[in-house]
Amino acid sequence: MVHVIGLPAFSDNYIWMIQDADNPRVVLVDPGDAAPALAALAHRNLELAAILITHHHGDHTGGITKLRGHYQVPVYGPAREAIAQVTHPVVDGDILHLGEAGLSFEVMDVPGHTRGHVAYWGHGSLFCGDTLFTAGCGRLFEGTPEQMYDSLRKISRLDPATRVYCAHEYTQDNIRFAKVVEPLNAALLERERNTDVRRQRDEPTVPSTLALELQTNPFLRCEESVVIAAAQAYAGHPLKPGADVFAVVRHWKDTLD
Ligand code: ZN
Ligand code: FE
Repeated sequence: MVHVIGLPAFSDNYIWMIQDADNPRVVLVDPGDAAPALAALAHRNLELAAILITHHHGDHTGGITKLRGHYQVPVYGPAREAIAQVTHPVVDGDILHLGEAGLSFEVMDVPGHTRGHVAYWGHGSLFCGDTLFTAGCGRLFEGTPEQMYDSLRKISRLDPATRVYCAHEYTQDNIRFAKVVEPLNAALLERERNTDVRRQRDEPTVPSTLALELQTNPFLRCEESVVIAAAQAYAGHPLKPGADVFAVVRHWKDTLD
């Protein structure tokens, strides 16, 4: 049984700490800040075995150097991005066997937010950084809408039971926009109620499941007639289902953020 512990960082980031059963050697995903990671390791009496990086942004990489001052561990990260602290560049399809931690992951190329963004899939979980968010998706800082659309389609084809561990607590904001696109989506309205309850209790709303995202995340629903119609009404002209709808919906959200 693999445990995933979310370490809050900055205002809304999560650093994911992954532990197999009671193995004391754990893996960190996207440690943007060393302090919460070092505190969690010390508090739980754990050792670091490896670091996984999804993309080059500072809120995902900023803690690597300090962590490596304490633990000389391998740092896996996208080969297609220049990240000085990455010791083990990875590409699509690589299988990582993190033996000491008893964990293995498959690397998926998921460009769009950044050009070389990768996700790590394994143990029924997807660590997807700033690609797929709960009820939303990352902004297109470097990639094209087509790239992000293809990346999200790739993720959509995973087992629907997959737990989605994105890197930010954005669910409430994302649901607000999702409701603009699909005001009558019953699963979305139910998700909103559940999310509001959890946030009131200061509980995380991540992870979600891919199944829930497929029902409620407009960026995974660009072939659904309701989303197509909403995007066409916003754009003021007919759109082809898929990438064109995605591009309009992404732009629409950008104008409201
Ligand atoms: Zn980012
Ligand atoms: Fe980020």
